Amino acid sequence: MNARTIRVELAGRSYDIAIGPGLIDQAGALCRPLLAAPKVTIVSDETVAPLYGARLAASFDKAGIKASTVTVPAGETSKEFGAFGKLMNELLDQRPDRKTTLVALGGGVVGDLTGFAAAVLLRGVDFIQVPTTLLAQVDSSVGGKTGINTRHGKNLVGAFYQPRLVLADTEVLDTLPRRELLAGYAEVAKYGLIDDPDFFAWCETNGGAVLSGDAAKRTYAIEQSCLAKARIVAADERETTDLRALLNLGHTFGHALEAEIGFGGELLHGEAVGTGMAMAFDLSARLGLCPQADADRVRRHLGSVGLPMRLRAIGGDNRRKWEAARLIEHMRGDKKADGGKLTFILARGIGKAFVTREVDEAALRGLLDDALA
Ligand code: NAD
Ligand code: MG
Repeated sequence: MNARTIRVELAGRSYDIAIGPGLIDQAGALCRPLLAAPKVTIVSDETVAPLYGARLAASFDKAGIKASTVTVPAGETSKEFGAFGKLMNELLDQRPDRKTTLVALGGGVVGDLTGFAAAVLLRGVDFIQVPTTLLAQVDSSVGGKTGINTRHGKNLVGAFYQPRLVLADTEVLDTLPRRELLAGYAEVAKYGLIDDPDFFAWCETNGGAVLSGDAAKRTYAIEQSCLAKARIVAADERETTDLRALLNLGHTFGHALEAEIGFGGELLHGEAVGTGMAMAFDLSARLGLCPQADADRVRRHLGSVGLPMRLRAIGGDNRRKWEAARLIEHMRGDKKADGGKLTFILARGIGKAFVTREVDEAALRGLLDDALA
């Protein structure tokens, strides 16, 4: 088998991430030893199920595993409370027992939703992630954060609940729309910016090839990303120190942009993170923490692959709404705001990110005003 395996070390909850081409067709054999009983329910969305559902089910069948499938609409609305209730009833219609395993086949939406469903179905059943977007392969399927959305915001109801296995089939990315691929790529570059300057330099050279479909480079990018995330999660599973918070580089700005523009797909999460990372480096340079040349490199690379870098260019008709004060208000509403203090991930340079709650608000205001000018 032409797959790489990365171990997420979490004592009794450790698991493997397998990365490689064609893994969907080997899922039955790879999952079988981990199942409490040979029965699974696949949860997928209406876009992914027709593309890969039958192949995954056939692979389970071949391994003697009984598989049923439940499908949810594609998109963030499937993480709403009401949709979650509907899914739970549809899962119970399949007459699961405590030995049933749920299998999430899809992007981050399906992964977050299925993971949370597994955490609470019959007080907890096992689950396996088969991520099909780049974002899910490098970020959301690893680390055990699961959850759904409420009218108070995204991911405010959920659980830390680790999968038993992650199967990242690199070939499924061939059907992913370019814009979704690019959004996932922002999270790939993020790992370099956090603490791996060599990987960021590799991204500068190879990012274009990763995006245009070079299989070996794609696999390498996913592998490096999962290694980085696995290492951070192993050291800080529940974000109790500032270590796991480093994964939120670009997210304080990004979430503010997403909250302002709405979660309707006009600005994808990864796009917002890409813009947010450029802003975090700009703010770091403005505060004298980071060389301006490093901030320029971040903006140049992310912009060159096609991520939106200029606030004014984002959001079409919505752009008249961009206002520094409103963006700062959204940052305060972010669940990562700690006792009213804004939390930022800033950097002393590429690969030198750190967490701070001491950002001078005038500097932040100045940055946003300039970005919106
Ligand atoms: P998504 O799951 O909505 O997928 C994006 C779109 O691509 C969907 O329309 C989907 O149907 C389609 N798609 C998926 N795979 C495809 C394929 N192989 N070919 C063609 N189309 C395909 O979005 P996403 O970006 O994967 O995930 C976003 C979600 O992830 C958000 O809800 C976010 O909160 C969550 N997230 C969670 C974590 C975590 O740690 N749990 C981390 C980051 C993001
Ligand atoms: Mg993210």
